[in-house]
Amino acid sequence: MKRILVTGGAGFIGSHLCQRLVADGHDVICLDNYYTGSKENVWHLIGKPNFELVRHDVTQPYWAEVDEIYNLACPASPIHYQHDPIQTTKTAIFGIYHLMGLARRTHCKILHASTSEVYGDPAIHPQPETYWGNVNPIGIRSCYDEGKRCAETLAMDYHRIHGVRSKIIRIFNTYGPNMQAYDGRVVTNFVVSALKNEDITIYGDGMQTRSFQYVTDLIEGMIRVMATDDDFTGPINLGNPGEFTMLELAHLVIELTGSDSKLVFKPLPQDDPRQRKPDITLAKTKLGWEPKVSLREGLQHVIDYFRPRIR
Ligand code: NAD
Ligand code: UDP
Repeated sequence: MKRILVTGGAGFIGSHLCQRLVADGHDVICLDNYYTGSKENVWHLIGKPNFELVRHDVTQPYWAEVDEIYNLACPASPIHYQHDPIQTTKTAIFGIYHLMGLARRTHCKILHASTSEVYGDPAIHPQPETYWGNVNPIGIRSCYDEGKRCAETLAMDYHRIHGVRSKIIRIFNTYGPNMQAYDGRVVTNFVVSALKNEDITIYGDGMQTRSFQYVTDLIEGMIRVMATDDDFTGPINLGNPGEFTMLELAHLVIELTGSDSKLVFKPLPQDDPRQRKPDITLAKTKLGWEPKVSLREGLQHVIDYFRPRIR
């Protein structure tokens, strides 16, 4: 049994990770400031002897004796991270800075949740970890993209200078139960609109692509990365290489929900990447990992989750 700190543990991905770690018998501290997360996501864990909920903001130092840290604290949806972009940058950079200090003192492993956004609007397709990216440093997505890039820098410098046992994962678009219904991300927007028989909004011409990973596949990948030897820092891509246009996604959601929704087209947001698809060769060889849940199957789970929650 390990003592494990999960920052952002009450969020979408964090809550699935806490659930898995608690089920595996670890002693879990779920730390969150509830900016985009919710106690409801971890309601079923409260009261268990190996689960502890802490209200804290990672822009401030936090001290605890732990064996492992998963650093997930950061809003992930564009409408959330653009709502208060200065706070987003502070969360990304001060958050990892404080947690690296904790990892240095306790000699624990620390896994940092980075993102495919570090590749920006990629000129290389699919994206391997060796690609340095194409990111606008001053745009409306920069608070998140550059915050995450700088967090990677700190994770590597603490590893090189102080021997911190850092590990960086680059997560590609992930979806599943416990997402907020109105977080503005494409899967939730489409599913919620379809369940309400309202118009589905396609930004741009809908030909931009994303690769969608179901959350349980990601959690398995994260646990395998944490289990690697100390000489493995990553970065390592965790995503599903299946690539879909937003039009394909919309038609699949309409089919699976049996909705009467119509498609309407709105302007593409600034700096919206045209394509995104992970090269997961490293994850396959290093972790023996690849996603198992198809988009069709994963979307069905999400639809079943939201159907009773949407009026
Ligand atoms: P989320 O918004 O559901 O979860 C983020 C959690 O962090 C929330 O519970 C929020 O309250 C908490 N948080 C935010 N700022 C904080 C702060 N200053 N102090 C403490 N807690 C804070 O998002 P998610 O989809 O679960 O993403 C989790 C992590 O994974 C994020 O770091 C995100 O950047 C990364 N990621 C997610 C995706 C994805 O597709 N979901 C893709 C790439 C990377
Ligand atoms: N998108 C869309 N309609 C929506 C929400 C998003 O067409 O209602 C598009 C968005 O412009 C982007 C893609 O879907 O091209 C994925 O958007 P999301 O915000 O989920 O993730 P990210 O852009 O951060 O990958």
